[in-house]
Amino acid sequence: MRFLRQTVSIALACLLLLFGLASCSPKERTETGSAPYGYGSAESGASAGQGIKGNQGSGEDGNDLATEGVGSKLRVRFLDVGQADAALLESEGHFVLIDGGNRADSQLVYTVLKNEGVTVLDAVIATHPDEDHIGGLAGALKAAGAQRAYCSKTSSDTKTFSNFVAALEESGISLSVPQAGKTSFDFGSAHLEFLGPLQDYGDENEGSLVAKVSYGEVSFLFTGDIGQKSEADLAQLANIESTVLKIPHHGSRYSSTYRFLRAVDPQYAVISVGSDNSYGHPTSEALGRLKDQGCKLYRTDLQGDVTMTTDGKTVAVDVARNQSADVYQQNDQRDEPDPSASPSGNAAGSAGAAGIGAGGAGPGAGASGEGTAMPTAPPSAGSSPPAAQSPGDEIVYVTDTGEKYHLDGCRYLAKSQHPMTRSDAQRHGYTPCSVCRPG
Ligand SMILES: [Zn+2]
Ligand SMILES: [Zn+2]
Repeated sequence: MRFLRQTVSIALACLLLLFGLASCSPKERTETGSAPYGYGSAESGASAGQGIKGNQGSGEDGNDLATEGVGSKLRVRFLDVGQADAALLESEGHFVLIDGGNRADSQLVYTVLKNEGVTVLDAVIATHPDEDHIGGLAGALKAAGAQRAYCSKTSSDTKTFSNFVAALEESGISLSVPQAGKTSFDFGSAHLEFLGPLQDYGDENEGSLVAKVSYGEVSFLFTGDIGQKSEADLAQLANIESTVLKIPHHGSRYSSTYRFLRAVDPQYAVISVGSDNSYGHPTSEALGRLKDQGCKLYRTDLQGDVTMTTDGKTVAVDVARNQSADVYQQNDQRDEPDPSASPSGNAAGSAGAAGIGAGGAGPGAGASGEGTAMPTAPPSAGSSPPAAQSPGDEIVYVTDTGEKYHLDGCRYLAKSQHPMTRSDAQRHGYTPCSVCRPG
């Protein structure tokens, strides 16, 4: 009798377990995450799983499910949004959008979400307030609602940022700043945790949110536009190692330091970058270090959308075009800052920029000195958008090692010069040169 009762209860437990697994609705999974809000997930529960391409549902084979979650996958689509970042992640009908491209990409992002049948995103993540990361997010929010929204800041004085915040408010979503090492959530059977930024760098690019998304043994690291400072801090983390790395800052020379690449030790890397961009991204320096590191590299400018699907063990990669593109070819040759910004001096700037070793062009140099070889130059110097942010915001020039900003033609610009707007230069901590007096 006692034995029978035990058997019955075991059978019951098994049934419950099976039922639980089979009906493992995305809703339940979401609620186990540490969602910062009390948003009702009924909406997402109802809509999840509809019209998802390639989603195999929760599978019929209970045994397999119990062991490795076979039948459920994580799919990461790095969208070709030109000189910008946007990645759509999906697991079991649950979606997360990390960055949304430029404002001009709003329609594209909208269409992608509509085509995927997304009605609600588990999360919208804006790594930092720059236009090439948040510009298209308003479009995303027109296509789908969101349960949570994260950004590295909750305020910024740009028009793009206020559009983003307005779109969030319209959808009743509040924006929050996640805590590195603390904030995390599940979507589908994948897990997302914020690893950075690890301190306040006083710079929007360095302060980009860094998120690691894991499924089984496979993980993806999203890095926004971080530079060497954030990279150096992240490299210390025990859990920074990732299968796939979204290369920071579109392949800027001030990112993808050897120390960081060694710590992440990716098998695959993706550079989200626009062809013919005026910043020379990806730079020969970053490409050289990636080549040395030896991971399999993909580029959105050469290959269009890059889609990676994983079963938790292996990664399958699909590119929209140019499977065998020469991904190590540089865009430096096209390193021409916006000609309308400054009619003269650009050629000199490019030539100077192309010749910068930055302590990382060779494997030897990087092995010892990477991260300290570039004194105080901010990550965006030389790769910063020269596009004027507001009328009257003049273009000034900074050098690789100096702390001043200059007018075109200043004698202190002899060796290297990188254009940026005056407000950008000030934001990065540069002060006006006392010789050319740029104001
Ligand atoms: Zn940026
Ligand atoms: Zn960017």
